[in-house]
Amino acid sequence: MKPNIKNFSYEELKQELINLNEKPFRAEQIFKWLYMENVKSFDEMTNLSLQLRKKLEENYSIGIHNILKKQESIDGTKKYLLELWDKNAIETVVMEYKYGKTICVSSQVGCRMGCKFCASTGINFVRNLDAGEIIEQILTVQRDIKKRISNVVFMGIGEPFDNYENVIKAIHLINHPKGLNIGARHISISTSGIVPKIYNLADANIQCTLSISLHSSNNEKRSKLMPVNKAYPIEELMKACKYYTQKTNRRISFEYALAKNNNDNLEDAKELVKLLKGMLCHVNLIPINEIENGKFKKSTNENIIKFRDYLNEKGIVATIRRELGSDIDAACGQLRRKNLEDK
Ligand code: SAH
Repeated sequence: MKPNIKNFSYEELKQELINLNEKPFRAEQIFKWLYMENVKSFDEMTNLSLQLRKKLEENYSIGIHNILKKQESIDGTKKYLLELWDKNAIETVVMEYKYGKTICVSSQVGCRMGCKFCASTGINFVRNLDAGEIIEQILTVQRDIKKRISNVVFMGIGEPFDNYENVIKAIHLINHPKGLNIGARHISISTSGIVPKIYNLADANIQCTLSISLHSSNNEKRSKLMPVNKAYPIEELMKACKYYTQKTNRRISFEYALAKNNNDNLEDAKELVKLLKGMLCHVNLIPINEIENGKFKKSTNENIIKFRDYLNEKGIVATIRRELGSDIDAACGQLRRKNLEDK
């Protein structure tokens, strides 16, 4: 197996070139071809000598994902089923907003977190994606839509903090001026709440946005929805969040998917206010997307608005997330690892 050239940081690629008896400044040219020109083969890197192109071809793969399937929603959202080099498949979604295009990338093949309301649960966890496989999702979509993507959210399949090193490496490549050159403030990571990694991110000095999938402010309820809460209960989660905001001065976004008669009552809103009072944060309310197991039903619109208004009245900034792509199963929590076994 040849290593994927997109899995190298800029500095690592320079070192690779030195090892191949080439000049390290070639890294700049190669990065330009990979991330600006978005070429599909070494052959297209026409300002490199034929000999160097051949050497690259012999030593590395260029890590392209194969588009197995593409679905398009009436709202313009597109969902891709992408095949990896080992035939595993992942899903990636691109959404259109007024301010640009946002891609929702996967970080793992499958997920280990077992959240009860999420479609990525119940399929086997296979493996982590490496940084090259993460960044290639963006490149593949950009090649397909022929437009630049301006925002990246780690909200596809997988738990980014269960694959922390590779996700951070991918963020550096996404952010690098010679890489995709997308500002850190246009990158969001969402976690189910793996506490030690929140401290790591706080100390890593990366200006990306942190989203916490909260979904309940009550330990008993949250543990039922999200098994991760048993390992890292709400008190520890909030302590880590406070450390994060102190350290970075960045506003945390709390995700809260509203399920009828589960976490959408006035009592729940009151508990949430108590938990978040005084914090630098924002609450993103998501009408829960119903998945096949049918256990969770969407809150009524009326209730969602009531929930939001209550939070806002009490000084907690809350908005309702616009639902995109639900007609093609591309909305929050609807992504799954699709492969032949699923069919
Ligand atoms: N593992 C990470 C990122 C992936 S999920 C995390 O847990 O944050 C992206 C977001 O979708 C999370 O906030 C997740 O809790 C939410 N989600 C999962 N299933 C959902 C569903 N059925 N309806 C609405 N949101 C859901």
